[in-house]
Amino acid sequence: MLGSAAGGGAPQWNCACPVCRDARRDGRDRTQDTVAVTGDGTAWYLLNAGPDIRTQILRTPELAPGPGLRETPLRGVLLTTAELDHTLGLLSLREAVRISVFATATVTHALTTAFPLRPMLGAYTDLDWRDMPTGVVLDGGLVAQRITVGTKRPRYAGDAPGDDWVSALRLTDTRGGSSFVYATCLPVWTPAFDVFVAGADEVLLDGTFTTDDELTRSTGRPGTAQRMGHLPMAVSRPMTARHPATRFRYGHLNNTNPSSGDDIAGDGLELFTDH
Ligand SMILES: [Zn+2]
Repeated sequence: MLGSAAGGGAPQWNCACPVCRDARRDGRDRTQDTVAVTGDGTAWYLLNAGPDIRTQILRTPELAPGPGLRETPLRGVLLTTAELDHTLGLLSLREAVRISVFATATVTHALTTAFPLRPMLGAYTDLDWRDMPTGVVLDGGLVAQRITVGTKRPRYAGDAPGDDWVSALRLTDTRGGSSFVYATCLPVWTPAFDVFVAGADEVLLDGTFTTDDELTRSTGRPGTAQRMGHLPMAVSRPMTARHPATRFRYGHLNNTNPSSGDDIAGDGLELFTDH
């Protein structure tokens, strides 16, 4: 887990809510949602690339460059949304000699037109941009399966076309067999999603908000969690009981979310260390 916060991080730079105040006082910094995955410990992929990516890479020894001058273990980035908190980090990877980015056609279109990150990045690096229809085979023995879980467009995208805006990924180590589901933006727990997580060892769920009215209660701002595309933890927690052999944890916490405990992921958490 490189980062475990929703957009803005916690503390958010302009927020004086109790959660952000406490984090600032205690020197805690929950950075924005990004996970690094590997099958063989050599080839690494990022699940999304948030604005904190440079700091996150620097504090992760496994992602250090070498032995070649510009050799990096980072092979590519898999995008699950086109949101700014999941994509802005790509611009900070522009020094790459070559980088692969996997996204749905919907996300790719938005990042080519409404927010032309793809052509911008392509001017700086050898950009290998690929479609991710239902899944992809990655280096190092990993396979990623994808399903669409939401259709909410980023605010900047206006009426951009397409339906595959928000994805969940299931990454399987084809040698060891263990699997990990990444679903940090999950608007609703559908029967299809229930099948998607079945049998997984680890699932990282949408922990943006504890309850549907959290944002309004904390900040006075309008908007419910589910209208913003985030299933509240109070709703998803009971669903996890259907899969007793699977370990569920929460990431992508908004800075209004005061949750703590065993199932709350933090920056730097290593999953699968006991596998
Ligand atoms: Zn705050």
